[in-house]
Amino acid sequence: MSNAFRMMSDVSDPTAIVNGEHLLLGGTPPGYVGNPVLPAYFYKRRYTWDGEPEFIGCAIGCSFCYYRWINNTVDTIGTGKAGLRRIGPPSGAAQFLEQSKLFGANRDIVMLSARSDGSMQVESVTQFLHEFTLPNWVFVLHRGYFGARQLEQWGRDSRVVYCTTITPKPPESGPGSWSPIDPDRQLAGIQYLLDNGIPHQRISIMTGPFNSNNVDAGVELLHTLGAMGFEFVTYRGCSVGNFGVAPDDDKLRDEGFLDGGQNEESAPGGHDYYRMKNWLAPAVEHALLAAGKRAGLRMYRFTGTLYKNEYGVSVAYNRNNRWREEIGQWNEVDVHKLNAYLTWLGYTPLSIEITDQGYFVTLPDGQWATEDVAMSVGAEFETSVIFNNHRIAPTLEDLRFYANNRLFWPLPEGWEHVVNNNQ
Ligand code: SF4
Repeated sequence: MSNAFRMMSDVSDPTAIVNGEHLLLGGTPPGYVGNPVLPAYFYKRRYTWDGEPEFIGCAIGCSFCYYRWINNTVDTIGTGKAGLRRIGPPSGAAQFLEQSKLFGANRDIVMLSARSDGSMQVESVTQFLHEFTLPNWVFVLHRGYFGARQLEQWGRDSRVVYCTTITPKPPESGPGSWSPIDPDRQLAGIQYLLDNGIPHQRISIMTGPFNSNNVDAGVELLHTLGAMGFEFVTYRGCSVGNFGVAPDDDKLRDEGFLDGGQNEESAPGGHDYYRMKNWLAPAVEHALLAAGKRAGLRMYRFTGTLYKNEYGVSVAYNRNNRWREEIGQWNEVDVHKLNAYLTWLGYTPLSIEITDQGYFVTLPDGQWATEDVAMSVGAEFETSVIFNNHRIAPTLEDLRFYANNRLFWPLPEGWEHVVNNNQ
């Protein structure tokens, strides 16, 4: 059993730091005994590098927001602008990417406002773009309404993809339920970007989360997007997590987010956080896919295939330490180069063998490839790379390996005290 699992018993403690990713995500929680540590600019690498230019937190306050259920981010969601937590200046975010060995210049997607919303920090995004000089795609997550400000600040930078999530509400739910953001106004903002020359490819739309209560509104939304000229969208099921803060199930049920027909314990194994992840009833998914087809949309449930097919990005063919078949057949690569890359990252592989799941790397005892590492290596070689010692998220101890080898660098000031205090 990995350390990440052993530490799960702490999860009900509101001041617990469960693992290294949790520390990078939100820093030390309120009430933590010891010196406070800020969140990292970027806290994980999966298909994208997820992070912020300046602040975590979001005043919009959707009731299903993941960050409500995490002890070191709960205070930053729906608590107004005062709830935002500053990490540092946007130049620090650019430096982090340029200095972190795992970041692939010209390879990886930068995902900004992953624990926030772009509308909370429009100028911070602009400053980041000014400081970050590499040619990588920069996706900006922005549920708020697009308008002249976003067009002027980012329109001329062809690296920027305007990303938004549109969540249709069930007709009977109240105005404050699900999300206070109005889908019609979002669509008007998107049309504004299109009318002002932003191409469809630079607008990435996620629709959902969906369940049986809002699927009809979702079908209508997909028709609208097709009529607006979009050719692809992402769609999502519902997720619920628990990382030190239990979800308010009664409220989620009252609002119809939990519809009674979901498998609420359906998260795949290996996750500390999710209780239910991207869950869609087959009938709901079927209705969405049929609507997408009628609207001429390529529909993506998983973002790996979206990034590969629509943005031409190198992605890992491995996920959760297995070959992810939706991405396609993994490629054959030069094993010596793979070995050299792993060595450059700080590992000393004992062997690399070909299996039906891809390249199987045996590391010595005590060396662990986290999902941040596995997905970087897989993307670098556009193949599937799996490990004997693998963890979905770094433990606190793994942060030492990250720091010693500059995989994520620099880590937030004071991180080492937290690691030492939790041994
Ligand atoms: S807009 Fe996004 S970050 Fe903000 S509360 Fe809603 S889900 Fe959370």
